[in-house]
Amino acid sequence: MGLSLDDACKRNLTEVIPVVREWDLPITLFVATAEVLRGTFWFSHVLRYAAYLPEPFRTDVRQLWRVSDSTRRSVVDDLFRRVPPGERDVMSVEDIAHVSSLPQVTIASHTVTHAILPTCTESELRQEFNESKRDLEQWTGRKVRALAYPNGYFDERAGRLLAEAGYSLAFTTEAHAITLRDDRYYMPRCSLMDDGSLCENLCHALGLWPSPVLAARRKRSCMRAKPRYPDNCGLTPSQVNFDEPELKA
Ligand SMILES: [Zn+2]
Repeated sequence: MGLSLDDACKRNLTEVIPVVREWDLPITLFVATAEVLRGTFWFSHVLRYAAYLPEPFRTDVRQLWRVSDSTRRSVVDDLFRRVPPGERDVMSVEDIAHVSSLPQVTIASHTVTHAILPTCTESELRQEFNESKRDLEQWTGRKVRALAYPNGYFDERAGRLLAEAGYSLAFTTEAHAITLRDDRYYMPRCSLMDDGSLCENLCHALGLWPSPVLAARRKRSCMRAKPRYPDNCGLTPSQVNFDEPELKA
């Protein structure tokens, strides 16, 4: 079993790293490099300051997860210009360099901008994979070989482009145990939820969530109606219709 944490939250320094050192637990931190440089997560910022977004995102912020990546970036960059981030909640470059020197810690990529990968063009995907790898290797002095897909979203282009960029492994959030049949660029990973109960998280850790009945029900309702927010309902993201809403300032 391997433990991994996404997003390099600053609180990992006080809540996770001491435990990892005390119990000598190997752990991988998946880091989105632009979030490290900004000091905060774009998704928290847009949720917190949705009132400052242009329409249609002001009314329905979740549409930012479904538009093209270039639209998402321009809306997010504009919000950061107008409402600068407050206190840092992501580790700094120095923090990443420090934890990477611990024998228990492996640093890996979570892309540059925590992009919604199925909404990216192929050249944007290359940029997300190449630049995050390059910067993390520069910050840590170590080779970066693995990536975790932000929000667990990926499509059939990812494996080929990750191989071209020099990665040897990538992780989804498909919750089941690893088998010999799994493709190394689409490895399963059981995730725990920040707001999940002990029981829910135990089910996640054991790969028992969602239950087969719940999964079938969600898939059926997803086939009937387009998802309103980025919940892929058991479908691969390439099967989900990511419509681009009209952008009004
Ligand atoms: Zn993430």
